[in-house]
Amino acid sequence: MARSPPPIVLKFGGASLTDPARVVSDVRSALAERAPVVVVASAREGVTDLLLEALAHPRSAAIHRRVFDEVRRAHPHLPPSGRRTLSRVRQLLTQLEGSSRRDAPLADRLLSQGERLAVHWLSSELRQHGIPAVPVESDHLGLITDNTYGASCILFDRSRTAVRRGLGRLLARGNLPVVTGYFGRSLEGRVATLGRGGSDYAAAAIGALIGASRVELVKRHVAVLSADPSEVSDARPIPELSYEEAEELAQFGARVLHPLTIEPARAQSVVLRVRSLEDPSVVTTIAPARAGRRNRALTMLRPLRLLRLRVPGGRQRPGIVAEVSQRLAAAGVNLVQLYTSSALLCLVLDPPQVLAAIRALAPVTREAAAMVEGPYPVTLVIAIGDGVMEDLGRIPAAAVSGAEGFSATPRALSIAVPDRRGPEVLRALHRTLVTESAS
Ligand code: ASP
Ligand code: MG
Repeated sequence: MARSPPPIVLKFGGASLTDPARVVSDVRSALAERAPVVVVASAREGVTDLLLEALAHPRSAAIHRRVFDEVRRAHPHLPPSGRRTLSRVRQLLTQLEGSSRRDAPLADRLLSQGERLAVHWLSSELRQHGIPAVPVESDHLGLITDNTYGASCILFDRSRTAVRRGLGRLLARGNLPVVTGYFGRSLEGRVATLGRGGSDYAAAAIGALIGASRVELVKRHVAVLSADPSEVSDARPIPELSYEEAEELAQFGARVLHPLTIEPARAQSVVLRVRSLEDPSVVTTIAPARAGRRNRALTMLRPLRLLRLRVPGGRQRPGIVAEVSQRLAAAGVNLVQLYTSSALLCLVLDPPQVLAAIRALAPVTREAAAMVEGPYPVTLVIAIGDGVMEDLGRIPAAAVSGAEGFSATPRALSIAVPDRRGPEVLRALHRTLVTESAS
């Protein structure tokens, strides 16, 4: 890929694939830029959900039959390679019916078939329009992941040579590679999926691996907004985000982006563009921070539970925070947020993990004479944006009264409020930080 201009990666989400004519014209306009183009595709809309449904009923032949029929109907006019994938789906479903216990690699193999079908189907659509598309399955390509089936991470150093070579060879022949998102090949050589929404992450990773100038994440009509429009009626599109802002937004549960999408792009300075296939004017560019630009986005995480751990003489026990987080981690409890003062640690957890957390903390309560209070139902309201601490003075007193916790970094403010007040606090913060602050 040495002498040609840097490639462009176009990733099409499942919903955007419902409109193949638009996808074709989109690919054509990227090709018109005279840079090499690589397409990454998700499964067609609803297909991953169907495969998950089959997995949720591992022994129900009746459900499997329906799932299979619906998956087949979602991929009309499959070329022979795609029809082979379809028979693989049937085989895997039969295998699932006969397997006695949950088999994570088998589940991931089944889940990966949605993207495989999509690339065979999409390549043949593109070829019918004169675009020399070639389907590429990312495990065969050599996109290597760790062995965490269902939520694996891409291993860049292990993947770089094979991915560059494989895609480079196709591009050099004038082909347009159409690569599966969502999964790779684990270190053990098995299929490993990247978690829901993982095709964005795969696309950003492939872009970073091949030195793309930009990765476009094309969604049917989803935009990156200042808040969830079902909660905040005057939520507005955000045209530009820094990598760091986008990362906070993705990690704090804005469902538009998979949380691991940003880092590979940031590390290689690949520009990400999230855009709507239906409305080309809706674009969010994710790129290095620029001076003088002010963005604010609000998100809400719920339902959550807060436990207060009171540690008498907490300041005199320097290892206490480490001890608490290690004990929680050892019990498999994910700490969503931690607010601390000298004698109070406020732990925010997912509701199903509360009991495990209380059990894991029992030795601390014995040895340090600490006390656990709660659980209290809370919602986290989070304001994100570079320099957001400048807005501390604008937070209305009513929003924080009765709050159970508050924390601030230069990029995010988080407030834990009693659960039912979440939406009202979200709207109040949106009004002062977004609507009334727009210049
Ligand atoms: N098809 C997978 C999912 O729905 C991956 C993706 O769409 O990004 O989670
Ligand atoms: Mg999908």
